[in-house]
Amino acid sequence: MRNVVIIGSGCAGLTAAIYAARANLQPLVIRGLEAGGQLTLTTLVENFPGFPQGVQGPELIELMQKQAAVFGAEFLEGNVTRADLSKRPFTLEMGSDKIETRTLIIASGASAKLLGLESERRLLGHGVSTCATCDGYFFRNKDVAVVGGGDTAAEDALFLTRYANEVTVVHRRGQLRASKIMQDRLFRNGKIRFAWNSAVADILDPGQGEVTGVKLKDVNSGEEKLKPVAAVFVGIGHSPNTDVFRGQVGLNENGYIATHDGSKTNIAGVFAAGDVQDHVYRQAVTAAGSGCMAAMDAEKFLEAEG
Ligand code: NDP
Repeated sequence: MRNVVIIGSGCAGLTAAIYAARANLQPLVIRGLEAGGQLTLTTLVENFPGFPQGVQGPELIELMQKQAAVFGAEFLEGNVTRADLSKRPFTLEMGSDKIETRTLIIASGASAKLLGLESERRLLGHGVSTCATCDGYFFRNKDVAVVGGGDTAAEDALFLTRYANEVTVVHRRGQLRASKIMQDRLFRNGKIRFAWNSAVADILDPGQGEVTGVKLKDVNSGEEKLKPVAAVFVGIGHSPNTDVFRGQVGLNENGYIATHDGSKTNIAGVFAAGDVQDHVYRQAVTAAGSGCMAAMDAEKFLEAEG
């Protein structure tokens, strides 16, 4: 029987592990399919407090994991395949293994949706990015592309105009999905261009190990043309990793876990932290902060339960 099981090993899960371990709760961290979370997909992180020279995303995660281990957190590779949160203790299944726990912290994160191109996969972190606020700075005075037509793409495009020479929004339809106010901002911004009714057919050039352009296909005529850019920001949305808790933990209207009074969910003893419950801020530092909150909430809950 565990006191605290933490699902997810990104910033939120590992910070929860540090706090829970220091509170002597011997937390177990189930590392998940995308162990280390979204930071492991990025390169230099320049906005995490305490690193004036920046820190590599994977290194930051490794340091957090070591820090949690110092205080006695335990780690398990793999993924939760079933969860029964209908009664306490909660039961988690990982294949044929069963784990029982008094409290659960869900920090399973969100995964950025990708286009699914082989070139995109190969150039991820080398000019292809799913995080404009993380990587935009590297493309000062360059031409870049943003894929998508929702608020994420709109926000990314506006953010990127701070650095880029020109930002081309590539959208598969002739109309944006983004909110009216964001659309107005996009249309007013002199640095933003649009490639309407356009799909990304390919990203060049995996052979060179960097982005040199995007091949755009007109979805109506089928015509293809090459647009030279130094970076492609994929902003087609994120999906919270909630599948295994579906029908049990309450979600908000966007499909993210609904939290109240800190990190509490609709189930007493189940807490949520990081991107699985945050579709607004999505920063490493806010994820870490909410991981801390979840561990403190779990500790209080266990104390109250005696
Ligand atoms: P959305 O689902 O709203 O938009 C996704 C966009 O990507 C759509 O324009 C969609 O095209 C396009 N798209 C999806 N899949 C593909 C694909 N495979 N290839 C090409 N294009 C694709 O996601 P967002 O992340 O933008 O927003 C999610 C939620 O979060 C929304 O409710 C949004 O309002 C909110 N949000 C709010 C922000 C704010 O208020 N500042 C900032 C960011 C998000 P199509 O339009 O054709 O479906």
